[in-house]
Amino acid sequence: TDLRVAFLGLGHMGGPMAANLVAAGVPVLGFDVVPAAMDAARAAGVKVVDSPAAAVHEAQVVITMFPSGRHVRQAYTGDDAAPGLLAAAPAGTTFLDCSTIDISDAQDAAELAVAAGHRAADAPVSGGVVGAEAGTLAFMVGAPKDVYREVLPLLEIMGGRIVHCGGNGMGQAAKICNNMILGVSMIAVSEAFVLAEKLGLTHDAMYDVASQASGQCWSLTTNCPVPGPVPASPANRDFRPGFAGALMAKDLNLAVSALTDTGVAAHMGPLAAQLYREFAAGDGAHRDFSGIIETIRAESER
Ligand code: NAD
Repeated sequence: TDLRVAFLGLGHMGGPMAANLVAAGVPVLGFDVVPAAMDAARAAGVKVVDSPAAAVHEAQVVITMFPSGRHVRQAYTGDDAAPGLLAAAPAGTTFLDCSTIDISDAQDAAELAVAAGHRAADAPVSGGVVGAEAGTLAFMVGAPKDVYREVLPLLEIMGGRIVHCGGNGMGQAAKICNNMILGVSMIAVSEAFVLAEKLGLTHDAMYDVASQASGQCWSLTTNCPVPGPVPASPANRDFRPGFAGALMAKDLNLAVSALTDTGVAAHMGPLAAQLYREFAAGDGAHRDFSGIIETIRAESER
């Protein structure tokens, strides 16, 4: 693809994603508010520029990879000091936001983009920094069909599995639903292992049964919270992430806000959100989210 791309937000995820586009021959202009992120991106071959406006003024696709919805809105609309990306980009630019944000924020951002004469897609990812570096991210895309078709070649460079989930906001919806399953299932698996310990059942025996039975799930067979049965899981390296507790807490908070907005009678999702908020407020923020088993174990000793 010879689409001209502006990439804003060159952090843990955005940096390697932009680098993969450059490596595939896509012309990319990059910008980040943090100088260190710019330096790292420059070292990876991204052509960095000194302002958001310089990045987008000739862009066909503007990719953003920011921490939260607040950053997306602010970057799109700007402030008194500087115009936003929507005003600085040429008419008809496609705005592709890959950040994980509230469904309603994503839909608001898309409306703002369309109102300014542009096109919009949300495409949050899973796969973490490892997937961003390897170009194997999973993208969940919310966009009109023609916008999806336009950005697909870029997503195929940065990702492995790409699913068009529906209109604007549906990428975020899919991501939030998936991660609510993940948060709840990790707690269930962790509670089961601690119960097994108390009952005198070995980790291996429980794993050998549950991994081949109806308890089977990703939290058990890929990200197993005890060392041993799955040698590559974070539990084997003192819970180095992986998927950090702070990010799980963030995603579950987004799920809770969607549950509240829709009035779904959910019990497990909000409870998982509360437990991960507590985990992330302690030393769990930077540990893999499967480290919550240690909290459950510690609380079981009282
Ligand atoms: P990060 O904090 O490393 O990167 C975000 C970058 O955006 C930072 O470098 C920040 O300086 C920059 N930024 C903020 N406002 C800006 C602006 N107005 N203009 C230019 N740059 C700006 O975060 P990350 O780990 O790369 O995550 C980005 C998003 O991806 C988040 O929404 C996160 O939830 C999601 N995500 C992260 C992971 C992961 O494993 N890190 C996995 C899946 C999804």
